[in-house]
Amino acid sequence: MLLNRSLCVTRYCQNILHQSNKRSLSIKVAVVGSGPAGFYTTQKLLRNPDTTVDIYEKLPVPFGLVRYGVAPDHADVKNVMNSFTSIANHDRVNFYGNVSLGQSISLDDLIRSYHAVVLCYGSSQDKLLNIEGEATSRNTISSRNFVGWYNGLPEDKDLDVSLDCDTACIVGHGNVALDCARLLLRPANLEKTDITSYSQKMIASSKIRRIYIIGRRGPVQASFTTKELRELVKLNENYCRLEPESVCNMASLKDITRLPRQRRRLYELIHHLSSSTGHTRYIEDGRIECIFKFLAKPHRLIADEKTKLVTQLEIQRGVYNNAEDYLDPSSQPNYLDEYEKIDCGLVIRSIGYKALMVDSKIPQDRNKGAILNTCGRIHGYRSLYCSGWLATGPVGVIANTLDSSHITANSILEDINTGQLPNLKAERPGYKEIDKLLKHKKVQVVHFNDWLRIDELERRLGETLGKTREKFVDVSEMLQIASDKKQSIS
Ligand code: FAD
Ligand code: NAP
Repeated sequence: MLLNRSLCVTRYCQNILHQSNKRSLSIKVAVVGSGPAGFYTTQKLLRNPDTTVDIYEKLPVPFGLVRYGVAPDHADVKNVMNSFTSIANHDRVNFYGNVSLGQSISLDDLIRSYHAVVLCYGSSQDKLLNIEGEATSRNTISSRNFVGWYNGLPEDKDLDVSLDCDTACIVGHGNVALDCARLLLRPANLEKTDITSYSQKMIASSKIRRIYIIGRRGPVQASFTTKELRELVKLNENYCRLEPESVCNMASLKDITRLPRQRRRLYELIHHLSSSTGHTRYIEDGRIECIFKFLAKPHRLIADEKTKLVTQLEIQRGVYNNAEDYLDPSSQPNYLDEYEKIDCGLVIRSIGYKALMVDSKIPQDRNKGAILNTCGRIHGYRSLYCSGWLATGPVGVIANTLDSSHITANSILEDINTGQLPNLKAERPGYKEIDKLLKHKKVQVVHFNDWLRIDELERRLGETLGKTREKFVDVSEMLQIASDKKQSIS
């Protein structure tokens, strides 16, 4: 018994010694970006007790599109920030905000200083329609900027947008398009959410009475999901309709049953939108009408010569020539020599995001809008990885980003275990080296505790206004709060 106990004690001491030896040779990983991909990748990497993770974030505040993309009326989705906070508080995780890869530090700086680097900085650009008038007509904006504006993204806070028109066109049939439409429909209690007060006021006094949601393909090819469409229809009961000429009844009910279940449900919901309800009544009711147009490809934007404000969106009609194509989610319609001009005073282009490459050496998959990688391993590199939208392209919800992050983290853990990761036996300076560079460039680094102070003040400010949070939208203001250690949190 005594022998057993002393054996245990010896083993325990050996273990401690082994661990402390290992700790002194910790595997230093840099993660760039603090959206879902950054946090989920970090969480999984922590499974190896020898890893320490330093998260670098361009903004002084964390959470990426959870803070700046997810709609304010989707508060439940934002709860994921609580688990991200627990990850950030882990003793082997450090957060360095206000540090931009490509500006404050370079990719080579990180590769030199860490055993492994994971790029998770998302897709911060938007796609263009590349049609006549797009660059020159005012009040033609991207959904990325519109979303950034209502969510308080610093670079979008001063967006030049006007809601003083009767009709808005939203181009694109994805969930972001539905988010924009829903916000313009003024969901109940919007003023109590974390929406920026300036945008909430403008939306509340918006003059928009009709919203066209325009897709270039058919109902089977729409990318929005049933839950999101149902939410929009419910909010705008009887005022959402289909434009009859933009759907062909080419497929019979029997054909529809061939569609996978999720697509069939979506198709049925789209068809359920009556083509007559709400029409003409909406103006007297003071309600906003939502019209879904399919098979309508943007062709040209026309603006007032003097003011340059957009006045019309011209679309080109398309058709599917047979039921087979009509029911194939990947098929393209044939576009006809038929055009239609839609009178409107606001055009929101919601046709997807794309990634910006911070270093010209990074190999790109231009079709996907992502970095060329296999299971998160970036082609041509041995210690460089990517995850999230940067690895998959700008598609998928947070759950898909979690999957991508776990795939990447598993690749890194495997490369550690199999000795594929180079220089594992040598010490790497990690943040010590980066700190020198940042000090030299006079970059004010925001630590996670500094963010918690900003967070606390935003919540308190929100409370006084009867809402969840009032976001700070100025980087300089955030940095001021971050540096003011007197504003302690309870
Ligand atoms: P991001 O969330 O974009 O995170 C990237 C991070 O990197 C950001 O913090 C960014 O500031 C930082 N960064 C960028 N450049 C640099 C740089 N050079 N240096 C350092 N840091 C940098 N999913 C849902 O499940 N539910 C929803 O309701 C939902 N709503 C959405 C609404 C919108 C408008 C959009 C666009 C997406 C929505 N999604 C939703 C999808 C979800 O947001 C994404 O799946 C997820 O955010 C992708 O995570 P990510 O970490 O790859 O990218
Ligand atoms: P998306 O789902 O890829 O939708 C983009 C839309 O733009 C598609 O209808 C596409 O049509 C259209 N489009 C692309 N290029 C076009 C062009 N040149 N002209 C006309 N139309 C064009 O992208 P997203 O809406 O930006 O959403 C990104 C991801 O975030 C999605 O996975 C989405 O589900 C997710 N998200 C989720 C939520 C939620 O869960 N509530 C909310 C927002 C976003 P084609 O199909 O013909 O290319």
